[in-house]
Amino acid sequence: MPQADYPTRIGLEQALEIVAKCAAQHRLPIETLTLANAHGRVLAGDVRAPHALPPFRNSAMDGYALRGADLPTHGERVFELVDEVFAGAPTVPQTGTGQCVRITTGAPIPPGADTVVIKENVSVDGGRITVSAGEKPGANVRAAGEDYAEGDLALAAGTPLGPAQLAVLAALGIAQVAVRRQPRVAVIATGNELVPAGYPLGFGQIHESNAIMLEAQARTAGARVIARNQVRDDPAALRDAVLAAAAEADIVVTSGGVSAGEADHLPGVLRGIGEVRFYKVKLKPGMPTLFGEIGACLYFGLPGNPVASAVTFRVFVEFALRTLQGVGVLPKPSRARLAAPLHKKHPRAEFARCSLHTDAEGVQWATLHAKQGSGMLRGLAETDALALLPEGVREFAAGDVVMLWPE
Ligand code: AMP
Ligand code: MG
Repeated sequence: MPQADYPTRIGLEQALEIVAKCAAQHRLPIETLTLANAHGRVLAGDVRAPHALPPFRNSAMDGYALRGADLPTHGERVFELVDEVFAGAPTVPQTGTGQCVRITTGAPIPPGADTVVIKENVSVDGGRITVSAGEKPGANVRAAGEDYAEGDLALAAGTPLGPAQLAVLAALGIAQVAVRRQPRVAVIATGNELVPAGYPLGFGQIHESNAIMLEAQARTAGARVIARNQVRDDPAALRDAVLAAAAEADIVVTSGGVSAGEADHLPGVLRGIGEVRFYKVKLKPGMPTLFGEIGACLYFGLPGNPVASAVTFRVFVEFALRTLQGVGVLPKPSRARLAAPLHKKHPRAEFARCSLHTDAEGVQWATLHAKQGSGMLRGLAETDALALLPEGVREFAAGDVVMLWPE
């Protein structure tokens, strides 16, 4: 057999490195969107705070603004109530020694005051209030810029914009933001045995289920799915379908037809229209994963077994989607202890479907689903996480710590 001119039977890390390298060369173009439209997108450039946050010194509570130096250290003290200031008031009154101003949360602290005593701790009698010892000078005041100083790096390029990040932008007065274009994904299911849901099964046929799953996975990962097709195991039809999809999409994902069987045409199709970047990863499920480039488009040939398709999408395609958008920090993996000992029959890395539970001590335990077959959807549908059983390790004891692949 001739030597392949691309990496083959590689480890998971090497495969991810190759995906990262290729995807980094195809960073998506930048567009400017309103905050509402930018939800779920990835920031294209650093955002610095154009002004301090909060922009001015203000009250953290409803109460009375006064001078901390006037507070009694024992007994009580009476303060003269000279004015009031509410959040949004266009002007702010002054206070002096022995005086106070009624204030609401978010209102500017009157000049002369540096402390707010909460209203619950004060007794009011007409134009006077009485404060007892025990109040802290400087309390309940939010300094200008205590959250973000003017010029601070507020959000770094590569940050995905979730609710909190959008709130930061709005609070800083930024109404439009430069983000990466939403990645476009095309999904193609392949196999002569496949019949769409809603149609009766003939002899030897099964209902096609990968396309809708991969489409949903792509959407969950923030992509726009521009096509979902089903193609027969015919090299010319596959070639046409993949080429057409690659002309429109940033990522083309096929399922099926990548193993060593007679009808597994996709490695040959990819060689004809693009470049193979790797074929076969020491991974279970997902061994025959095929990855390459077709022009400016990334191509993933995922194995057809439903669990293998799902797992390799999560591991490789989601990673590529992030890299295309320039995501800087990857989601943090969590960890769990195996609830039972385990023998891995092969040296490859394995993603096991597992349910999680946290005990009273806060320790998270992973229980493997009984149905680990790569064709068995039940194990996917009834579990919480993918536990990574690393390459090379075969024996695991109960209590051993495993990594959970991040969401
Ligand atoms: P393949 O990778 O094409 O050899 O397919 C492996 C297994 O997955 C076979 O049992 C196929 O029938 C099944 N399979 C392939 N594609 C799909 C699909 N889109 N939906 C459900 N099962 C599939
Ligand atoms: Mg097939």
